[in-house]
Amino acid sequence: MTRSGKVLLITGGCGFIGSNLVRFCLKAGYRVINLDKLTYACNRSSLVDLEDDPNYKFVHGDICDAELIRGLFGKYRPEAVLHLAAESHVDRSIDSPEEFIQTNIVGTFRLLSVALDYFKSLEGTDKENFRFLHVSTDEVFGSLGPEGYFTESTPYDPRSPYSASKASSDHLVRAFHHTYGLPVLVTNCSNNYGPYQFPEKLIPLVINSAIRGKNLPVYGDGKNVRDWLYVEDHCEAIRLVLEKGKSGEIYNIGGNSEKTNIEIVRTLCNILDELHPREDGISYEKQIAFVPDRPGHDRRYAIDASRIEKALGWKPQNTFSSGIRRTVQWYLENQDWIENVLSGNYRMERLGSANGGGSK
Ligand code: NAD
Repeated sequence: MTRSGKVLLITGGCGFIGSNLVRFCLKAGYRVINLDKLTYACNRSSLVDLEDDPNYKFVHGDICDAELIRGLFGKYRPEAVLHLAAESHVDRSIDSPEEFIQTNIVGTFRLLSVALDYFKSLEGTDKENFRFLHVSTDEVFGSLGPEGYFTESTPYDPRSPYSASKASSDHLVRAFHHTYGLPVLVTNCSNNYGPYQFPEKLIPLVINSAIRGKNLPVYGDGKNVRDWLYVEDHCEAIRLVLEKGKSGEIYNIGGNSEKTNIEIVRTLCNILDELHPREDGISYEKQIAFVPDRPGHDRRYAIDASRIEKALGWKPQNTFSSGIRRTVQWYLENQDWIENVLSGNYRMERLGSANGGGSK
């Protein structure tokens, strides 16, 4: 590694947010060790162009493997951990929750335990400056009615195996701070969108199904509400929390951009009608198909992001309309990446209705 910027251990750096964050951090001058298990949810081609970068090191491995992580801390001496590795798809957590418990809870615990041993071995400013930043979700707070927002003090009320496993990992991170003094930071963010998202999630699923002439599935009445944030804005929020956040503190991150699922699907259809019209000239909206709802589908999530705004001066730089257009353009221009993903086992089929699908 050649630069003098901070060494970051990023877990899950081959996933959607992770691969955007790895690029973002390298551009910002950090050195990055990316530990990733390369599950179905990622595609190594997302970062293949970085493989010769002397400030980037990819390590194929599991966060549950304490010995491997211990070796990485010893060898690279990271100044911070940015922990993103997780099983992340709600529908999959309904069909097969076991892997969510293993990675999201047991894996986070192992990572915390090794990070704590390492932290205890540090001295002076190395010890003072070390941080463990845990990236989590707004889904831990449960479901809102038509009014109100999640704040950092909203009681946890997770309702899917995914959100329950993330809530559990958040509690472990906080406990390691309060019990053992590990300097942690926790972020709870709303739905992200942007490049490199696995096409089982709503936005890439709709774009890629639309241009392949498939149905565009909308769960239930399509009125479930989520707050949406462009992934690059999330990356900048993480960087600010890492550099300026207060140890032990929690920061909610959101786009101030609430949309119903059906609004999202119609917006995508309208952008595609303009950028990539169907041969018959009919709108992509014709492909919308309402399907039975996801079991336990939370009705509304909305984030109050005023703490991070006031304390750290963060605000999203992308509006929903600019971010979503950039996103559609990216998927249209990167069909090789999608073909690569689809050449694995995933076929854009429905999961998690308990018979097996959603917002995210
Ligand atoms: P993703 O599913 O796209 O990527 C997860 C990555 O973690 C993959 O590269 C996968 O290979 C890796 N991974 C999984 N299990 C692992 C293990 N045991 N060891 C090492 N690596 C492992 O997820 P994402 O959407 O990029 O989300 C990243 C993080 O951000 C997650 O913790 C998620 O809970 C959180 N988050 C996501 C969103 C969102 O909208 N996507 C919003 C808020 C918070």
